[in-house]
Amino acid sequence: MKCRHCGAELWLPLVDLGTAPPSNAYLTREQLLAPEKWYPLRVLVCENCWLVQTEDYVGASELFTDDYAYFSSVSTTWLDHARNYVTGMTGRLGLGPHSLVAEIGANDGYLLQYVRERGIPCYGVEPTKSTALSARQKGLHIVEAFFGKKLAVELARKGQQADLIVANNVLAHVPDINDFVAGVAILLKESGVATFEFPYLPNLIQKNQFDTIYHEHYSYLSLTAANRIFQASNLDIFDIEHLATHGGSIRVFLQLAGAERSRGRAVEMVLDQEEKSGVTKAPFYSGFQSRAEAAKNALIAFLLEQKSAGRKVGAYGAAAKGNTLLNFAGLRSDLLPYVVDRNPNKRGLYLPGSRIAIVDEDYLRADRPDWILILPWNLRDEIERQLAAVREWGARFVQAVPQMEVT
Ligand SMILES: [Zn+2]
Repeated sequence: MKCRHCGAELWLPLVDLGTAPPSNAYLTREQLLAPEKWYPLRVLVCENCWLVQTEDYVGASELFTDDYAYFSSVSTTWLDHARNYVTGMTGRLGLGPHSLVAEIGANDGYLLQYVRERGIPCYGVEPTKSTALSARQKGLHIVEAFFGKKLAVELARKGQQADLIVANNVLAHVPDINDFVAGVAILLKESGVATFEFPYLPNLIQKNQFDTIYHEHYSYLSLTAANRIFQASNLDIFDIEHLATHGGSIRVFLQLAGAERSRGRAVEMVLDQEEKSGVTKAPFYSGFQSRAEAAKNALIAFLLEQKSAGRKVGAYGAAAKGNTLLNFAGLRSDLLPYVVDRNPNKRGLYLPGSRIAIVDEDYLRADRPDWILILPWNLRDEIERQLAAVREWGARFVQAVPQMEVT
């Protein structure tokens, strides 16, 4: 396989998580009668540009289907994050009725709804029908398509160049990263700003967040790799912020090369830090496999122990993260009979691969398990608050990544 950014041959492995179906390919009861497609889930490191990437077996059209089940608005933490971002950027860039904001990967309008609320013209680009529909119901204008150079040229021709382009947690999801970034440069007004948020690779490695790896994530980025990819498309990073979302993300601020803003010190500092910590050397990427396996083995041991002690365990959060973990661990409903989720679109479905049933919170109250395994550990505080009532029957919470931890 060749690097998706620079074309160099890829040799250095980061991790091999076995095989799994696409993380968001939830199954209906009827689909349980049919086989599933399992794809290798292996991540490689480019030793030329240091872009970390999933080996590609699955095409984007198989991953981001019409019934794509990820709705951003289900998480209140994420909604707060979006609202704060809109408030911050409105002030920072002086956005108003004269401006135009575009969001790539607008999902269900979780963010643009706050832009619209302020009377700032905006539109979203979103390829999945189900979420696009939900965004339209919020009164938002959505271009239903995959984003890249071709669409950007078309939009620019229609006068849709933006003062602010938002791309949150979308860069990792695009197979052709060069085409996507080039598209952003085309869609940006001369003085415009684009912001990208993505999970921060050094965090992922140092905090053992192996379950954030799945087929829908083609790339995992350090600032070193991102900087190089943006520069190749004539975009300059002028600022950076560290965020707590998704277990540690970064937000980078971009402008067209040569535009008026000067690069903040924070950018050089992070680049230096990465150089010092070895991001541009092979040993930085070793040891991740054994740490991932240790976490997986501890979870299996815990579940076996509870089962033989006659204690009940239910899982919470039918998210992509959980699917990576459950399929890597080869878990099935004998050790983990159900997973609770708030999203009404997932209710009655089954997790891909493990085929564990997705149920609602009423089911949890009826079953009264001894343990609740929180799969989306990044939302742990929110979930514990939301499920506070389970303490009444003495239930306790546990998470498996980065390592087993009980509260
Ligand atoms: Zn490369």
